[in-house]
Amino acid sequence: MDLPNLARVRVARHRSDLVLSSGEAPLAGGTWLYSEPQAHLTGLVDLMELGWPAWTTRNDGGLSIAATCTVAELVRIPAAGRPAAALFRAGAESLLQSFKVWNTATIGGNLVTALAAGALIGVTAALDAELVIWTPDDGERRSAVERFVLGQRATTLAAGEVLRSIELPAGAMAARTAFRRIALSPLGRAGTVVAGRRDADGTTVLSITGGTARPEVLRFPEPPGPDHVVAAVDGIRTWFTDAHGAADWRAAMTRVLAEDVRAELAA
Ligand SMILES: Cc1cc2nc3c(=O)[nH]c(=O)nc-3n(C[C@H](O)[C@H](O)[C@H](O)COP(=O)(O)OP(=O)(O)OC[C@H]3O[C@@H](n4cnc5c(N)ncnc54)[C@H](O)[C@@H]3O)c2cc1C
Repeated sequence: MDLPNLARVRVARHRSDLVLSSGEAPLAGGTWLYSEPQAHLTGLVDLMELGWPAWTTRNDGGLSIAATCTVAELVRIPAAGRPAAALFRAGAESLLQSFKVWNTATIGGNLVTALAAGALIGVTAALDAELVIWTPDDGERRSAVERFVLGQRATTLAAGEVLRSIELPAGAMAARTAFRRIALSPLGRAGTVVAGRRDADGTTVLSITGGTARPEVLRFPEPPGPDHVVAAVDGIRTWFTDAHGAADWRAAMTRVLAEDVRAELAA
């Protein structure tokens, strides 16, 4: 832990405890917060005693997942009646992590950290998740995942806002899904990740993360052919180069993986 200016850790038990003062940040699993120097932080507000159920079934049959739901809890959500839950395990296993991260990292922390390798970002984007964000004036606002993540380590989360839940519609949870990932080495960070779903009416959605600065979501009102998918991937302009892959390699691999996902969903 490298938090040299930390003076206080508060445990939040009620929403009223979530009024953040200057220098305070929410603490979820702490796996990212404790992994890098955070000299700007003077206080942490622990969210894990708020008692939010990890997930609940919504009235429409969809899922409401608490921001504090851990990766371990997420992959245990039963897939019976909601086959798209298979994407949770695929996304979770795509994260480069130890068992300690698996058991403590939260879906909310993953979304807010907004790393390009945040596979739970791609998975929730492919499922048309809506984020419920508590605002400091006791209100809330809602946002699609692809509009929430603006770039590497950048989101629309304003000072004092707390991510409360991730809302997944019943239709998306009933969809068939497919997932592909590639990295330069067997245990390497993702070069590119493609998560896809196909609804009963043929609507097909593909999310691309890992190699793009922000999540890219490709939507097709009816099952796309190979050319449609290639053309949509070729329209992406946010590829980046880093130690985990060159931009042109990432674009080329995404063409291949997106076609794989399309073909699996069409089968
Ligand atoms: C070994 C290792 C490997 C990792 N591999 C990956 C990887 O492959 N991909 C990846 O994406 N990440 C990776 N991470 C980073 C991190 O562990 C994950 O992103 C994790 O999901 C963060 O969740 P957390 O609950 O631990 O968040 P925390 O560390 O508690 O918080 C992360 C950030 O989110 C904020 N925050 C947390 N919850 C909320 C909330 N509800 N509302 C508002 N703000 C909130 C915190 O203030 C902080 O700024 C890795 C970390 C380690 C140590």
